[in-house]
Amino acid sequence: MANRSFINVKLATMTGTGLGVVTNQAMTTDDKKITWIGPESEMPPGNYIEIDGKGNWVLPGFIDCHTHLVYAGNRADEFEARLEGKSYKQIAEEGGGILSTVKATREASESKLSISASIRLILMRRDSGVSTIDIKSGYGLDFENEAKILRAAADVGEEEGVRVRRGYLAAHTCPPEFKSNPDAYIDQIINEDLPRIVEEGLVDYVDAFCENVGFTPEQTRRLFLAAKHLGMPIRLHADQLSDLGGAGLVAEMGGLSADHVEYTSPASVARMREHGTVAVLLPTAFYYLQETQKPPIAEFRRQGVPMAVATDHNPGTSPFTSLRLAMNMACVLFGLTPTEALRGVTINAAKAMGLQKEIGTLEVGKAADFTLWDVEHPRDIVLELAEMGQHRTFIGEKENSP
Ligand SMILES: [Zn+2]
Repeated sequence: MANRSFINVKLATMTGTGLGVVTNQAMTTDDKKITWIGPESEMPPGNYIEIDGKGNWVLPGFIDCHTHLVYAGNRADEFEARLEGKSYKQIAEEGGGILSTVKATREASESKLSISASIRLILMRRDSGVSTIDIKSGYGLDFENEAKILRAAADVGEEEGVRVRRGYLAAHTCPPEFKSNPDAYIDQIINEDLPRIVEEGLVDYVDAFCENVGFTPEQTRRLFLAAKHLGMPIRLHADQLSDLGGAGLVAEMGGLSADHVEYTSPASVARMREHGTVAVLLPTAFYYLQETQKPPIAEFRRQGVPMAVATDHNPGTSPFTSLRLAMNMACVLFGLTPTEALRGVTINAAKAMGLQKEIGTLEVGKAADFTLWDVEHPRDIVLELAEMGQHRTFIGEKENSP
């Protein structure tokens, strides 16, 4: 067992409602957990590997709570086509959009998928010291290919020493085999695929895309009832392009998070508050799609709904691997404060994944999972986008700096 002591550090614990700043402190860990925080002079005696933090800041390891990291192919041609004036709908009708990624992903082997996703995760770690990541399926759309993506997602986490939680997003879009019959596809998921995916232990929660171009609230509700019946937590891509009441729906069903939420109504925000559902903001997708409707930040604040921030990394609508860029955009485009953005990738992201008892703050008993940042103040992490590089991430018993 490797016990470590971190001396000469400032901590942003993310406890309470702000950054939870404590200075002139030290922290000790064993190979799994934080064991003590306090003034260095009072450190409990023990055999520690001592790490001098040189006055740097320690923050909980960052959590990217919404990504589609595992896929094949790229959609640069669509980026160009959209800028030349083609609509998303036209592109989809010509075989582009999500279905073009589905085609490439179905053709790719599991090892090819995990290698390409590993490279993306290395970039994320180097940029922001990401130590926990959400990875959704949704580019396979049949049992074999969804399972392949979910297995690759687990491999990537193992390979990179990063905690991975997996979402089953078969209800991302209707596959070609079910083109004119989304209800039959939902039936297939409910009756055949979902029970097998759960039984094989491939998934931590169930997700869906509730939208005019995705699935209806009724189809979403049916899927979620089946998920809950199997004891699976639920999350939802909700209210991104229109208000179908998705955020209210997932909240009412006890969901962990509603993600995107640009068009979420005050009534849905009230449901989210009532049920403790987190609003996951995805500003890089908003930016990349040149959207104009911003999420109701003032309403989330007023009602005390926790806000998380994530990259939504995917090849079509958010091809970015920088969680710091997402935080910066959450501030510049949506008006979050740097403190809110930092809480959005720590404690509130942990809540969105149902992991708030394990990670997201620096507290005794929580995972020894944190990053040392060589910055004047934590807000610098949000403001400065030039590669800082000077951060060291620790996860459990080992240093996991890229
Ligand atoms: Zn997404």
